Amino acid sequence: MPRKKVIAGNWKMYKTPEQTVAFLREFLPAVKDHTRDEIVIAPPYIDLYEAVQATKGSNVAIGAQDVCWREECALTGEISAGMLVSVGCTHVIIGHSERRQFFAETDDSVNLKLKAALEAGLTPIVCVGEVLEEREAGLTEDVLRRQCVRAFSAISATKAAKLIVAYEPVWAIGTGKTATPQMASDAHVIVRAEASKAFGQEFADNLRILYGGSVKPDNAKALMSEEEIDGALVGGASLDPKSFAAIVKY
Ligand code: PEP
Repeated sequence: MPRKKVIAGNWKMYKTPEQTVAFLREFLPAVKDHTRDEIVIAPPYIDLYEAVQATKGSNVAIGAQDVCWREECALTGEISAGMLVSVGCTHVIIGHSERRQFFAETDDSVNLKLKAALEAGLTPIVCVGEVLEEREAGLTEDVLRRQCVRAFSAISATKAAKLIVAYEPVWAIGTGKTATPQMASDAHVIVRAEASKAFGQEFADNLRILYGGSVKPDNAKALMSEEEIDGALVGGASLDPKSFAAIVKY
């Protein structure tokens, strides 16, 4: 059976609750009949409640952009997986390169967060990807293998069932530079091979691996036409309802 693609929007630190509602007022009617792909939007924490309420009964799921690996406890500023579930979130992005780069996220914290998200019943979108220096030094494969091995460590295939991975070459995020469909495809093959080692071939065959990095309405079709690419994680172009709807309908 072909893997159903996932088109996910990562809003980063953009939009207030009011702006979230305004976005959805325009976006939901534009995609209401869309069943080919799953649609996810990950707004900032403060918008989650409004977003969940506004998308009830629709074909759009709401995710968070990060999660703490601990359960309810004394950790100032953190949000647990249980809290995300309680507000109606179904998805969560884990290990985005901006968190790795600016907030000391490590392969090990990604692993802990992944376990916490799965335990709570969330669908995790785990981000992996190399920086430009690593690609230029021929280290892309090593980096992807290391990130996957550490992220998937000590998790059973049964527990990992909902896992989604996003391959996001860091040099393509927010830069307007996109990996060619072939480059993305090659990276996805590496991620899928690591998933097979960790969870078995059948799991790997069913795993959705998204591409992220300057996906826009005009390049979405070429990327999504690759057999290895099971959807997109979209930053900048997901902030505008028209452009995100155009990507969804690539
Ligand atoms: C992202 O932040 O996950 C991303 C892919 O951003 P952009 O689409 O803006 O490159």
